[in-house]
Amino acid sequence: MTPATATAAAAASDANMWNGIDAEIRFNDPIGGATWFAAGGCADVLAVPRSFAALSELSRRCAEANVPLRVLGQGANLLVLEEGVDGVVVDLSAPAFTRAPWDATDGTARGDHSAETVRIGAGADLFRLVQDSKRLGRGGLAQMAGIPATLGGAVRMNAGGAYGDIAQSLERIEVVMHGGEMRSIEAADLRLGYRHCELPAGCIVVAAHLRLPHGDPKKIEADVHEIFEYKKRTQPMGAKSAGCMFRNPTDPATGRRESAGKLIDQAGLKGLRFGSAFVSECHGNFLAIDRGGRARDVLELSNQVQQRVLAHSGRRLEREVVVWSRQQVPSFPEERG
Ligand SMILES: Cc1cc2nc3c(=O)[nH]c(=O)nc-3n(C[C@H](O)[C@H](O)[C@H](O)COP(=O)(O)OP(=O)(O)OC[C@H]3O[C@@H](n4cnc5c(N)ncnc54)[C@H](O)[C@@H]3O)c2cc1C
Repeated sequence: MTPATATAAAAASDANMWNGIDAEIRFNDPIGGATWFAAGGCADVLAVPRSFAALSELSRRCAEANVPLRVLGQGANLLVLEEGVDGVVVDLSAPAFTRAPWDATDGTARGDHSAETVRIGAGADLFRLVQDSKRLGRGGLAQMAGIPATLGGAVRMNAGGAYGDIAQSLERIEVVMHGGEMRSIEAADLRLGYRHCELPAGCIVVAAHLRLPHGDPKKIEADVHEIFEYKKRTQPMGAKSAGCMFRNPTDPATGRRESAGKLIDQAGLKGLRFGSAFVSECHGNFLAIDRGGRARDVLELSNQVQQRVLAHSGRRLEREVVVWSRQQVPSFPEERG
């Protein structure tokens, strides 16, 4: 951290900086334990805004004081190192950010959701959305069955798999830009691709407009069931992991994506351990951790896997899992410094 960013980050820990913002502010919050790895350090400041205006004002103050601002979804693709995270981490779990139009808003009334495209808050739980859309006989989300995420996290990562991704149902998103301005961005402008979404730097997704066409409930239920069963069969869903650690690299000869899991398996790395972290025997691209383990062990193990796959097959595996710490963590170990 440079002296300037250290000063800015320290400013964030002064409660006065957040006066008058309608948000719950927690200092030294153990966010690492709330990720799917259930390991790692604290956020200096965790902010849970209760309204769009509060989030916008929070972003404005962070930009003005040069305080780093990050967003936490469900932590299903996140490794928080033990040293923790400087600046502010935003959590969109307040009701203002989690609503779908079929949720009751005042205890009695439900929003109109007859239209094919619906607006859903970015903090909404994707698992619940898949279940709701199945119950309501709406298509468009079956491909996301079994993927743990908030809707915003799924958009940010363009989460998906063998059956499709969130991009195929996404029409546009609403964001709070770095500095607090609210904007709408069309999906076509996000250059969505394989685990790829070009969000402007520092912008926070606050809602997504999804195309969820009405369809045959039995067919939708069967699709969700098939995809969920496929995931359960092929992935260690119960392990403490963040899903696939690496992106599937492109084979230079064919231009096609190769399975990173297969490359890891071919390099003989299934079961490899570093401290409390290990490569899953079930799926080579899942790096998991023992209960009570160290996030730093996962990072070290991922570095070893990258180097050993490079030595074995010449392929550079790029990390898909996002690593948070006080320093920028390079995506490949040799890129240090
Ligand atoms: C058991 C398991 C299975 C998985 N299977 C799959 C799979 O099949 N396919 C797949 O693609 N992924 C899979 N994953 C990874 C993970 O589910 C996805 O990457 C998911 O999109 C992460 O969402 P999240 O809300 O947890 O985001 P987080 O992990 O909390 O955050 C990930 C990144 O998104 C950013 N972010 C989060 N919310 C927002 C927002 N509102 N605005 C802007 N940026 C935001 C964060 O700042 C961070 O950079 C799996 C993970 C696990 C643990």
